[in-house]
Amino acid sequence: MKIPFNEPYCCGLETTYIKQAFANQQLSGDGHYTARASLMLKEIFQAKHALLTHSCTAALEMAAILLDISPGDEIIMPSFTFVSTANAFVMRGGTPVFVDIDPLTQNIDVEKIEESITNRTKAIVVVHYAGISTDMDRLLAIAKEYNIPVIEDAAQAIYATYKNRPLGSFGDLATVSFHETKNISCGEGGCLLINNDRFISRAEIVREKGTNRSLFYRGEVDKYTWVDVGSSYLPGEITAAFLCAQLEYGEVITKARLVRWHEYEAGLQQLTVDFNIKLMTVPSFASHNGHMYYLLCPNQHVRQELIGHMKKASIGCVFHYVPLHSSPAGRKFGKAIGSMENTDRAASCLLRLPMSPNLNVKPVLEAFAGFFADS
Ligand SMILES: *Cc1c(COP(=O)(O)O)cnc(C)c1O
Repeated sequence: MKIPFNEPYCCGLETTYIKQAFANQQLSGDGHYTARASLMLKEIFQAKHALLTHSCTAALEMAAILLDISPGDEIIMPSFTFVSTANAFVMRGGTPVFVDIDPLTQNIDVEKIEESITNRTKAIVVVHYAGISTDMDRLLAIAKEYNIPVIEDAAQAIYATYKNRPLGSFGDLATVSFHETKNISCGEGGCLLINNDRFISRAEIVREKGTNRSLFYRGEVDKYTWVDVGSSYLPGEITAAFLCAQLEYGEVITKARLVRWHEYEAGLQQLTVDFNIKLMTVPSFASHNGHMYYLLCPNQHVRQELIGHMKKASIGCVFHYVPLHSSPAGRKFGKAIGSMENTDRAASCLLRLPMSPNLNVKPVLEAFAGFFADS
């Protein structure tokens, strides 16, 4: 591909920090760079606590353990999301309850949450798709009324805000991804943000294989032992060192992506008029992070043709997700409440364009124009 869908970004400092991590003679987790990255994340997200993990998936699994999800418990979430949002809860025996999305943002339709609440509901998970915020005031009001914890799957949402407050600072728990395809990356990585004090001490134990090792290293207990369920969720220092470098350039990376995003927005405007293509909608309460540029084709056929046309021009365009409610595992483990028409439409019509900080948008726009000129 001349223009790949995603290009890993390096700021240059990564290798310096990795060499330093080796010089520090600690390559396992929770050393100098883990502490530094965690502190930076706490500040970026204005979260009470940030724990590095080896993925957003791992952070979601930790969230399911912390909420004591057990068989029969229901977790409300969108169906239009990555599998880990649901899978983490299914691993504990929970039942994902899928709710349709808002056709303007592709985020969970907050107005449909209330009718999905039962006495088995243990959590509401929101996904801030494309780094664009869900309506948090409305959501938090419902969660408060029914006293249900909120988890933000903020995998795509670093540096994005709702009414000027960082996404990831609203939920009792929030999870972030530093996978290669996300804005800030260390290959594979993530973090769990904790905003509700009651989860903090147990979260350290769950992340350290169910042991009180963190307390031991801080000198708060005199021996370290197995005290709870848990797993190995912490990344090593090399990963944390890479992440530290990326976080130092986090605002630079975000600004560059937003420039690309606005270039797309301006360049594609005419298509919406001439060819019934829908561009992204950003509600006035949200400021986003240029995580992705997507558009909605009039139907699946046009989308397929477009992908083929772009591929011939050596430009990588992709689509997602297979809606979880219609996936084999989603059908087995979860249930859909009400109509899923907006989810199904996004799954068949949404097209993601290449996005990276140094992307040259012009040839992508030209290839697009070529497609519509021919049709
Ligand atoms: C990328 C992503 C994940 C998974 O992140 P990993 O770090 O790869 O585990 C989960 N949820 C959403 C919404 C994502 O976009």
